[in-house]
Amino acid sequence: MEMEDKQFDAVVVGAGLAGLTCALELTEKGYKTLVLEANHVVGGRTSSWVENGMHVESGFHRVIGYYKQYPAVLAKAGVDVNKIVNWEERMDVRSPIKERIATFGIAPLHGPVKMLQGILGNNDILSFSDKLSLLPFFVKGFWDYLNHPEELDKVSIHEYAKKHGVHDDAYHILLFPLTAGLFFLPPERYSAYVFFGLCFPAVTRFYKMRIGAYLGGMTEMTTKPIADAIETKGGTVRTGVKVDRLLYQDGIVTGVAFKQEEIKAKQTVVATELGAAKRILKQSGINHEGLAKMMKLPTMPAVTIQMELDKPLIPYDRTTFGAGTALVSFAEQSRTTFKHVPGRLSVILGPSDRFLDMKPEQVLEITIEEARKIGLDIKPHLKDYRIVSHPEDFHSLEPGHDWMRPDQSTPIRGLTLAGDYTRQPYFATMEGAVISGQRAAQIVLQYLH
Ligand SMILES: Cc1cc2nc3c(=O)[nH]c(=O)nc-3n(C[C@H](O)[C@H](O)[C@H](O)COP(=O)(O)OP(=O)(O)OC[C@H]3O[C@@H](n4cnc5c(N)ncnc54)[C@H](O)[C@@H]3O)c2cc1C
Repeated sequence: MEMEDKQFDAVVVGAGLAGLTCALELTEKGYKTLVLEANHVVGGRTSSWVENGMHVESGFHRVIGYYKQYPAVLAKAGVDVNKIVNWEERMDVRSPIKERIATFGIAPLHGPVKMLQGILGNNDILSFSDKLSLLPFFVKGFWDYLNHPEELDKVSIHEYAKKHGVHDDAYHILLFPLTAGLFFLPPERYSAYVFFGLCFPAVTRFYKMRIGAYLGGMTEMTTKPIADAIETKGGTVRTGVKVDRLLYQDGIVTGVAFKQEEIKAKQTVVATELGAAKRILKQSGINHEGLAKMMKLPTMPAVTIQMELDKPLIPYDRTTFGAGTALVSFAEQSRTTFKHVPGRLSVILGPSDRFLDMKPEQVLEITIEEARKIGLDIKPHLKDYRIVSHPEDFHSLEPGHDWMRPDQSTPIRGLTLAGDYTRQPYFATMEGAVISGQRAAQIVLQYLH
């Protein structure tokens, strides 16, 4: 009888956006679905919680206007993306070399004047010929992205920019932010394929472009509502459950195991981050040729520092890039995500591997020093801080790795993968995670029908 209670149609390991999306699709179709999440809050890399008295988040995030499936999944959970973000039409680049702030419009339709001002202005930072040097680079880049993706993934964006004559200032002010600022890797280590792949939808869906800053914690605004929708439709979401291994015998996965418990399911979806997925497969004794390239796909970390201040450090909340500094991207958040404190800065540090094993005091010291180079004086205003790290959550976006990303379907019966590292066109983003979850659900549904 007990065994009967524990038999699910599907068990999903991990309640990040990928796992939650997959589970929502399955419960909507009436299948008995269980989600197991190791942390005490849902959301994974899009989450927020209280850490020793301070409100923190997995790292400051921006919703890109060109996302389609992410808003669609939120809508299914009753959340209108336009109500939970503050849409920004500009971004700032602060450079220690230029000692000035360059502001660029990023919303051709929603903020055309700001866009034009950005292109035609900033001339003391980027000359007209600097800006022009980007044109052949982007044209050829998009061509190669569409026609020679494998070749493009063999080179870094640094090599590609040099080869196509991008001027040094354009490289420093624009390419550094769009690589290091987005994925914590300097241009020398950033795949040209990933670069153009992420820029491409900004061209095809240019009329949608702008970036959204959350108006509250991500768990509360986004992932908890999806988890609630799963439960309302009859699914179950359990937090604080770390799955140790899959039930794997005779080439078939029949569920999951943790502590003393075993849960049986017709289909199992591993929707964890890459590092955990590799560990779970290994601990389950799964050693299949068809998964060999995924097992070799390297991970990469992310490190953030989040600070509470006695006043806002910047007069407005806006996405900012510290070109050529360790503060690869950051934002003041006291008027958007964390309104309950007088000042708050959330910073993504790069290159992340440099900071991963550093003592918190040292990370803080470097942050303060680097911030000073771009005109920000943190020290007199600092009240509290936390370091939030993700040691092996990302798949490597360095050249030569994209081909190793696995599909959601696997050669193992009963096992499907989801997660931003699995193959879909949006790389390691919220949109990518959601699409991977939708694709995983489609595969599972074929077996459950
Ligand atoms: C600092 C930072 C900034 C980012 N900025 C942006 C941005 O601006 N825009 C954007 O689109 N994307 C951004 N991202 C990327 C985005 O957050 C991720 O691509 C997306 O959230 C990944 O979702 P996922 O479901 O694939 O993985 P995850 O969110 O990592 O979910 C995996 C889940 O599995 C759980 N888990 C692991 N092991 C086990 C186990 N054994 N048992 C049970 N559960 C387990 C984990 O706890 C986690 O909750 C950022 C990420 C970070 C870290």
